[in-house]
Amino acid sequence: MDYKYLANLIFPDAKPISYYEEKYPERNLKEGAMVTRYAPSPTGYMHIGGLYQSIIGRKLAEQTGGVFLLRIEDTDQKRQIENGVREIVESVKDFDIKFDEGMINETEEIGNYGPYKQSLRKEIYQSYAKYLIEQGRAYPCFCTPEELEEMREKQEKAKIRTGYYGVWAKYRNYPLDDVIEKIKNGEKYIIRFKSMGNEEKKIKHYDVIKGNIDFPENDQDIIIIKADGLPTYHFAHAIDDHLMRVTHVIRSDEWVSSVPLHIDLFKTLGFKIPKYAHTAPIMKEEDGKKRKISKRKDPEAAVSYYHKEGIPSQAVTEYLLNIANSNFENWRKANPDKNISEFNFELNKMSVSGAIFDLVKLLDVSKNVISKYSKEKIYDEVFLWAQRYDEELTEMLEDKEYALKVFGIERGGVKPRKDISKWSDVKNNIYYMFKDKFEKNEIYEFDKITDKEEISKILTLYIEKYYNENDNKQEWFDKIKELSGVLGYAKEVKEYKLNPESYKGHVGDVSTVIRVALTGRKNTPDLYEIMQVLGKDEIINRINKCINR
Ligand code: GLU
Repeated sequence: MDYKYLANLIFPDAKPISYYEEKYPERNLKEGAMVTRYAPSPTGYMHIGGLYQSIIGRKLAEQTGGVFLLRIEDTDQKRQIENGVREIVESVKDFDIKFDEGMINETEEIGNYGPYKQSLRKEIYQSYAKYLIEQGRAYPCFCTPEELEEMREKQEKAKIRTGYYGVWAKYRNYPLDDVIEKIKNGEKYIIRFKSMGNEEKKIKHYDVIKGNIDFPENDQDIIIIKADGLPTYHFAHAIDDHLMRVTHVIRSDEWVSSVPLHIDLFKTLGFKIPKYAHTAPIMKEEDGKKRKISKRKDPEAAVSYYHKEGIPSQAVTEYLLNIANSNFENWRKANPDKNISEFNFELNKMSVSGAIFDLVKLLDVSKNVISKYSKEKIYDEVFLWAQRYDEELTEMLEDKEYALKVFGIERGGVKPRKDISKWSDVKNNIYYMFKDKFEKNEIYEFDKITDKEEISKILTLYIEKYYNENDNKQEWFDKIKELSGVLGYAKEVKEYKLNPESYKGHVGDVSTVIRVALTGRKNTPDLYEIMQVLGKDEIINRINKCINR
């Protein structure tokens, strides 16, 4: 009886690994092309860190002429939830992240290196496990959880390294005949890797983000195939990233301590070791201290948050690139109209300690992004968002022609308006442009001039003598100046500042009264443009409504 016999006993139907090596050949890509992947577990929740990694993976593949793939890591059957894959696929779609290969919905996929869902790759993992058993580099272990727990307690008491290694590895050198007998008797087992590493030796490793790191070699005989026949993360990582011909493993730095183990696995399997880039977690600053952004404490940790708030995916993407490569901000300033694809992203410029995420800054980026959108694009995006999240807004936007006029106010020129950072702000920003909404308005934010009679006087005179719907902007403003002069206000702010005692106020105070009467607010985009959109009848209506209050 030999290892081959044992391997056949455990995995009688597994194909030889040469079958898979041929089925998934080296990719025929140009020099320097990066093959990257996003490999989430379908837990029904997409974290901003996952989005961050997929944006980076996508960007690098794109800029090098490589491939970006989506692999679903569902080998932990306890953590699965229904529709978990759909949640991921839809989240990344919402952010316009395109995958060249991988799952496109719960059941379908594209690409020649699949299946892209680990639970469908059971046979592949088993072939490689069989190969390792044949080589004497993997073996069944019959330890019960109680036995392992006992061992751990002993190690802790004796203050030595915990784990299954060296003399502690009970089944590592167990007589083959006894092993075979146990299997034939139906005893339960899992498969472990047989490491030949030596903890006292060091390996030098270069991480693309973290730089040089020295590790002790791995000597742990880790589990590679679990009792349910599925692989552990470590084994699946080695097999999948090898067979999918991934060149750069970009993943969260919680995995960095597993690198020696992964190198051990890759070498033993005869695989080329990919480059590793371990990304530091996204941080938040709170009371002057840095902490990891948290699913429990921070709503913005969930990717779904941005969608619900209506923050355009372009803004989120730009902001995440911003914190991933700090030179992005300057590049964007120098190239305000260029497509992101022209920015050259570099992994080794990423922060080792974790970039700080600041929602206020993100909203600022968003304001800029939105300010460049055409009124048509804004309409389409807002309408889409409203259909999902805001019935009232959907109704307001039904008259598309009118809505386009509203969105066109102060847009498209050299200094476009920057008062919208998310679609959920829009209703509040435009409601006064809608007759029935404005009529429900009870609040007028008067500012300097608050005396009722004075307000009435300004408005009455304005509407009777100075308002003409055919005036161009210059004429319109000149008339407000005239009106100001007649009522004892300075026509120019400058004049007023020189001799404040000589005036009741200035032209700005007068125009604010008109603005508030027409919109309820003291701050709005360009009043002339607003009046053009509202039209004569509505203007007269509103002025009279205000006078009569
Ligand atoms: N499925 C692993 C996780 O969600 C992925 C790690 C990796 O990218 O290799 O943490």
